[in-house]
Amino acid sequence: MKGREATFQSKMILITAPSGAGKTTIVRHLLSVFDFLDFSVSATTRNQRPHEQDGIDYYFKSPQEFKSLIQEDAFAEYEEVYKDQFYGTLKSEVDRLWGLKKRIVFDIDVQGATNLKKLYKENALGIFIAPPSLQILKDRLRSRKTETEKQLETRLTRVRKEMEYREAFDTVLVNDNLDTALKEAEHKVLSYIFPNAKLFQDGRDAR
Ligand code: ADP
Ligand code: 5GP
Repeated sequence: MKGREATFQSKMILITAPSGAGKTTIVRHLLSVFDFLDFSVSATTRNQRPHEQDGIDYYFKSPQEFKSLIQEDAFAEYEEVYKDQFYGTLKSEVDRLWGLKKRIVFDIDVQGATNLKKLYKENALGIFIAPPSLQILKDRLRSRKTETEKQLETRLTRVRKEMEYREAFDTVLVNDNLDTALKEAEHKVLSYIFPNAKLFQDGRDAR
């Protein structure tokens, strides 16, 4: 996907879903196949997980630092996703990536995605990732082993509410078979970013 664009349009892809539906898996895949995409690194006050790197997975902030950024109007959107755990998109991050002529991909909860869609309108494509069922979602979250049983219950309570948002987004992608879901995600992204390009059925560029 290199060297074929005459003009650059500032566009963003919002990958959104309830926790455990597969956002991170899909976002990582898209970033690995499309070099026109880059990831928007969010700021958060939640604890850093062992495999995570500051500035790569998140900008990890103390509650005080996060509060100062709110006061400085530094966020395009922010939210207390879980109690005492704040997450937000920095305006400077969006400007930085568009300045580099990258289309931006977000791994973001449904409320944050709704806010970004309102702000960026047709410059944003909202893709809602739906799990095949709540039971399957629960099983996947358990086997990911990143939350305690108590945190898992909190996340599942939220999932039920978040599923109601699905109709608010431009498109819904059911993440059942992973390979199929990844191909579908590629296709949706290409059709949005390059609406005039001819695409093969499997989402590959035909030119
Ligand atoms: P999210 O970022 O939405 O919280 P993840 O991408 O971390 O979700 O996915 C949650 C868990 O489910 C991970 O362990 C991931 O490997 C697994 N997973 C994602 N998609 C599928 C799928 N289609 N089939 C089986 N497991 C999946
Ligand atoms: P996690 O703690 O699993 O990394 O993320 C928890 C939730 O916060 C996920 O649903 C994730 O998409 C969401 N999230 C991550 N970054 C942002 C952000 O910048 N803004 C908002 N509103 N939510 C975010």
